[in-house]
Amino acid sequence: METFTHLFVCSFFFSLLRTSITQDSTITASQSIRDGGTLVSAGGSFQLGFFSPGNSKSRYVGIWYVISPEIVVWVANRNAPLNDRSGILKVTGDGILVLLNSTNGIVWSSNTSRRPENPVAQLLDTGNLVVKDKDDDNKDNILWQSFDYPCDTHLPEMKLGWDLVTGLDRFLSSWKSTEDPAQGEYSIRIDPRGLPQRVFMKGDSIKTRAGSWNGLGFTGRGLRPNPVYEYGFVLKEKEVYYEYKLLNKSVFSRYVLNPSGVAQRFNWVDRTHSWEPFFTSQADACENYAVCGGYATCNINNSPVCACLEGFLPKSPKQWDSVDWSGGCVRRTSLKCEDGDGFWKHKGVKLPDTSSSRFNKSMTLKECEEMCLKNCSCTAYASLDVRGEGSGCVMWFGSLVDTRQFSEGGQELYIRIAISELGMISLLCRLEKKRHSNKKKLVGIIVGSTLLVVGMIIVGLVLYIWKKKLRNQEMTKRNQMKDCDNESAKEDMELPVFDLATITNATDNFSNSNKLGEGGFGPVYKGTLPEGRDIAVKKLSNNSRQGLNELKNEVILIAKLQHRNLVKILGCCIQENENMLIYEYMPNKSLDCFIFDQAKSKLLDWHKRINIINGVAKGLLYLHEDSRLRIIHRDLKASNILLDNKMNPKISDFGLARSFGGDQIDSETNRIIGTYGYMSPEYVMHGQYSVKSDVFSFGVLVLEIVSGKKNKGFCHPDHQLNLLGHAWELWIEDKPIEFMDDLVGDLRTLSNVLRHIHVGLLCVQQRPEDRPNMSSVIQMFSSESLLPKPKQPGFFTYSPKADSCSTKHGTCSANEMTTTIIEAR
Ligand code: AMP
Repeated sequence: METFTHLFVCSFFFSLLRTSITQDSTITASQSIRDGGTLVSAGGSFQLGFFSPGNSKSRYVGIWYVISPEIVVWVANRNAPLNDRSGILKVTGDGILVLLNSTNGIVWSSNTSRRPENPVAQLLDTGNLVVKDKDDDNKDNILWQSFDYPCDTHLPEMKLGWDLVTGLDRFLSSWKSTEDPAQGEYSIRIDPRGLPQRVFMKGDSIKTRAGSWNGLGFTGRGLRPNPVYEYGFVLKEKEVYYEYKLLNKSVFSRYVLNPSGVAQRFNWVDRTHSWEPFFTSQADACENYAVCGGYATCNINNSPVCACLEGFLPKSPKQWDSVDWSGGCVRRTSLKCEDGDGFWKHKGVKLPDTSSSRFNKSMTLKECEEMCLKNCSCTAYASLDVRGEGSGCVMWFGSLVDTRQFSEGGQELYIRIAISELGMISLLCRLEKKRHSNKKKLVGIIVGSTLLVVGMIIVGLVLYIWKKKLRNQEMTKRNQMKDCDNESAKEDMELPVFDLATITNATDNFSNSNKLGEGGFGPVYKGTLPEGRDIAVKKLSNNSRQGLNELKNEVILIAKLQHRNLVKILGCCIQENENMLIYEYMPNKSLDCFIFDQAKSKLLDWHKRINIINGVAKGLLYLHEDSRLRIIHRDLKASNILLDNKMNPKISDFGLARSFGGDQIDSETNRIIGTYGYMSPEYVMHGQYSVKSDVFSFGVLVLEIVSGKKNKGFCHPDHQLNLLGHAWELWIEDKPIEFMDDLVGDLRTLSNVLRHIHVGLLCVQQRPEDRPNMSSVIQMFSSESLLPKPKQPGFFTYSPKADSCSTKHGTCSANEMTTTIIEAR
């Protein structure tokens, strides 16, 4: 609050401010009119005079409210204070307002574009100090006005924005401190580049962005109608500005940007004779400009607040997981341009930064879409004006930055993505919806049984909590679903969609006899399509052990990959309440059904076993190095290797897989999920995973294939080592031959078998850096070169006691479960 050191001066000027200053008349700090002259009567809401803020000794010419002189709304010489009590404000014959100090030096002056006949300065009732020709009341002929040089206060009818002809930029800027009205570091202005938008700046950088005007308000501000004021925005060839008007003229309202960068609106309340805050700018996490980086969106109701836009992945997953979102996201599938691309409709969003956008007021949304599609560098489009049916067009070129998801309000934004992504996202949205409805059902069941047990007394309480929870869930659901209600997108699906009736017929109504097995997501059925092709149908069950995230992950990753040693997804079926994924059928099911089965393992001679090992190695090499996504599988094991009719292996189950950015080599997680016996030491102990964790699992798999025994649960009468420890013992005792499956070896293959044991041991080394990568592994298998000496492997103990050993072989019916070891550290 400013307190006035020279109140007598203020009261002295109260009378002055009902007047105008005419040519050669002046107002001074110590007297009103020096040279006489005509005083023109003006309104009485504001006063002009000299003041000193707070304890400051500096003196300024300012404008304040009659009702509260301590509120200064404009300062003429904010950056050039007077240092003593003298000072003269006058209008020159040229129509220039000048502020003179004690030595008649000009401290501050206004300017003018033309020489007037009879200049006069007048304080209008709006608080605008104007210089004009005395007898010319035409608003357009004003020579100079204080409203063109705002300080920290936005008054009604004051235009903030640009005169695009003269280049005049009218913007609010904070005071340096409550005692120093000099221009501070915060400002609120219109950025005129592209589609003009309102930005809040600290120094030269944007702090927050209210955004562009959509006909109803700024896209980043839910401007709700209120009884006090109404905002308006003008966008013309020669000018762009916003202003607000009072709906009730008898109310005083002001919008001020204070020295610490907080913007507040105050309304005058007569009864209390004080200014009551009506609105204060809120700095939530999503208000920070571009907090989530490019192609990402911020939702304050989510945790974490940032998420990639549909069809995009974190640029650096490691950075992203450590809540540094600034790197933003990149496309999961690169654009094809024109026919190969489509648009995903996002609802309820704050439009991205428009500084590099282009707009057209007369185009329709359809024309906007067509134009954007034709231009390969157009990344998104939206309606310019959302009123009614919507009108106009705004198009973005380049990255989409500073988008925000609202639970209420916001507008529609159409983001360009490859058509294949549209289908995928559509499916994922369906799955997401399903998860929500399942959750709701589950909550219902839990609450229902609780009611029975606990009885009537707490019924009311439980119902209350339940209702509240459901309402909250419904709110969140509505947020998340908004992006998904995009029926039209399904038509563009590249991932083929199967009709439910076709799949039902193909699987003989999901008959038990067609059931192939049951995995984390639910049952898997064999089916035959009308044209004779066999398929495997993975049906998402309501109580699926593996989460929806894993299923989404599987769809996203596997649909992007193509390799003869990776199982192929053929399409999906998303109809009624069913969500299914359709894969190529692998007649020999999974590898564990063979190698751990006494009878069936006989079918796997050494030649078949190396074919399987090599195939898996090639599939893994493709994931790690050759695929465009670079993927770590994280759950490689015998039951995830499917076999076709010729016993060729295909890696399946990408639920836990992680995609890596180009130069990233490792990552960390708090949620360690995988399968006992296959997980590497650094992953189990520190949550660190890299391609080398897959190499460890691969090594385990090789040793299992060679020995025909499972690592986990391996028993030996002489020691308590697991399969890895057993292999190592035999290796250092120079008896590796004893390690191989009886069914495998003969003299011709012996050296090759030994080489596989050797490589297997290298893959399961304790330290990731001691393990070879997959391309070296493949070379080692195919050459005769000397191999490095293995050291003691990681995780080689922890086998059950010998007396608790069962002689039974494992089978694929006793499948290894994928386990979550640690939820959080
Ligand atoms: P999953 O949900 O991928 O773990 O699959 C569960 C089981 O279904 C596997 O262990 C296989 O026995 C069987 N299965 C999965 N996918 C296929 C397929 N494409 N062809 C044949 N059998 C499959």
